[in-house]
Parts: sequence; structure tokens; C-alpha cells
Amino acid sequence: MSNPAGASGRAVRRRLRETLCPDCEHPWEEHGGSAFDGLAACGECQYEEDHGQQVPGRGKCWNSVPHALFVRPTAGELERAAPLHRKVLLRFGQLMLAALHLLVRWP
Ligand SMILES: [Zn+2]
Ligand SMILES: [Zn+2]
Repeated sequence: MSNPAGASGRAVRRRLRETLCPDCEHPWEEHGGSAFDGLAACGECQYEEDHGQQVPGRGKCWNSVPHALFVRPTAGELERAAPLHRKVLLRFGQLMLAALHLLVRWP
């Protein structure tokens, strides 16, 4: 039995790594609400501040990860995370539909 919750958990972590915050252009993974629980400022921004590498005119980013990133997987992610029985059910439905067409055409 596959574990859809685990699969979507992996998908979310990947999304956080690959999606950038529009304000500071660091991955969401570095922001509050992701793995850095309890740390509200973006980890990368904090690092830049600590090392005097801030981009001029841009303050430390205090955004937290948008809720949508956790709750709305993309279609591709859903497809990959779909449990086998759902795919089988879909195939079964297509077969039933084909059978129904045959029955309707029966004289
Ligand atoms: Zn940010
Ligand atoms: Zn940042």
C-alpha cells in the first residue's frame, strides 16, 4: 500500500525548495512556516545580514510561506501521488462506459 500523505509531503518540501519568495527571491524553504519553525525572518536574508551581504534597498524578509503552497498540489503532483486503486478505478470506469455504449447499440 502506497502512502499518499508521505508522497504529498515530499511534493510540498520540493515545492518549498523550488518556489521563490517574490519579495526576496530566496526559496520559501528558508521562510517562516516551513522547516524553520519559530524563525520568522527568511533564513537566507538573516544570513546575508549577518555577513553584511544584504542587497541595498532590500530589508530582511519577514514573509511566511503562503498557505496555498501546502494545500494546493499541482496537477502533475496529484497524478504522481495518486494511489493505484484510483487509477484502476478510472480504468474500470472507462471499460464500463465502453460496455454501456455496446449495450445501447444492441438492437
Ligand atoms: Zn522572502
Ligand atoms: Zn530572503
